[in-house]
Amino acid sequence: MKAEIISIGTELLLGQITDTNAPYLASELPLLGIDLYWITQVGDNRNRLVDALKRACNRSDIIITTGGLGPTEDDVTREAIAELVGEEMRIDPETEQWLRGIFQTMSYEMPESNIRQAYLIPSARAIPNLQGTAPGWWVEHEGKVILAMPGPPGEMKQMWENEIRPDLKRKLSGEVIISRTIKTLGLTEAKVDEMVSPLLSSSNPTLAVYAKLDGIQLRLTAKDRERSKAEKVIAKAEEQLNNILGWAIWGYDEDTLEDLVGTMLRERGLSLATMESCTGGLLASTITDVPGSSDYFKGGLVAYSAEMKAAFGVDATLLAQKGTVDPEVAAAMARAARLRLEADIGIGITGVAGPAEVKGKPVGTVHIAIDAEGKRSALSVQYPPRRPEVKRRAVYSALFKLRQLLLDWE
Ligand code: ATP
Repeated sequence: MKAEIISIGTELLLGQITDTNAPYLASELPLLGIDLYWITQVGDNRNRLVDALKRACNRSDIIITTGGLGPTEDDVTREAIAELVGEEMRIDPETEQWLRGIFQTMSYEMPESNIRQAYLIPSARAIPNLQGTAPGWWVEHEGKVILAMPGPPGEMKQMWENEIRPDLKRKLSGEVIISRTIKTLGLTEAKVDEMVSPLLSSSNPTLAVYAKLDGIQLRLTAKDRERSKAEKVIAKAEEQLNNILGWAIWGYDEDTLEDLVGTMLRERGLSLATMESCTGGLLASTITDVPGSSDYFKGGLVAYSAEMKAAFGVDATLLAQKGTVDPEVAAAMARAARLRLEADIGIGITGVAGPAEVKGKPVGTVHIAIDAEGKRSALSVQYPPRRPEVKRRAVYSALFKLRQLLLDWE
């Protein structure tokens, strides 16, 4: 099955918005065993859209469009599809009733232009939109499937996940598709790519490498008519990846670092405290995203200024000598957090989130330290200089470091 995505909207071509729909769908299609060969962007122009649809139908089996399903004259997706398949649009009474119902619930009178959103052609069925007024269209025509979804990413995603993906899976069944995500941290994307390069050319399973803020992820996808065979293919490749990537792997599929670390702390009966500077409390916030984290998390101190660090127990002379962004200061913060909050383990984070450097220390510099009775661990890193990312990455690195320490805990 070959697919093509068409992102519709003049705003895309003017550079006013960035297409996030196509990349999202592109990451979804391999999970269904569908090969994506083309992504096209086209403005709100009926003739050019019909052209794009014709070309797509000539070379692909599944054509997915997003955008242009609104109520206004420049929303031309329905008209273009109708022209492509040579069918006339009619108001679909069921969709009209649903549409009027939405406006009634909101106590608004429906503008007559919205009736366009109740149009259908004989080859199309309406796909419910739970977040907006633009129903999608599922069109089957001469062996091709055309799926038209609304442009707003939230509406599109909801429709894809709840309405289209399950039906598409059923339609394509006959083949079982299984995937496994392997999560790593501590290696660059280029390094991971290089290490796993022998597996990248495999067609079953396929292997894709993605850079995320919590590290580099690898996604294995296998297809077979029998589930057990697909599972075997995945298991074999996973074993190979485990051997290649070893220590850098921290989790699989839906795992999160905060969950894993939380479980490890609970199992070992250990408590944790934090003192954060550049992450401004994000570490404590992430740790407490896990329900039940009060079992092991004593609390976090946000010590942004040097004075506050000193007030919480970091040696003022050390701060005066080294400045606030320093590995020794991170270690002192970890220790002070542990002692001040009477925890078994303390974590300290200090760094430069940006955009300006601090006393000659470049943006992205982060020092992380972990302190426990008789055990210490530290990490100094240089992240790309983008403030929100620096903070998130520092948090994940700290949790990854803690995980490593806990793995060896006796
Ligand atoms: P609606 O009637 O619900 O607005 P629509 O299908 O007519 O849906 P558009 O008018 O094309 O959608 O787009 C609405 C908004 O959705 C755009 O202004 C933009 O904010 C967002 N959007 C549309 N397409 C994309 C895309 N490919 N990537 C990211 N955002 C998009």
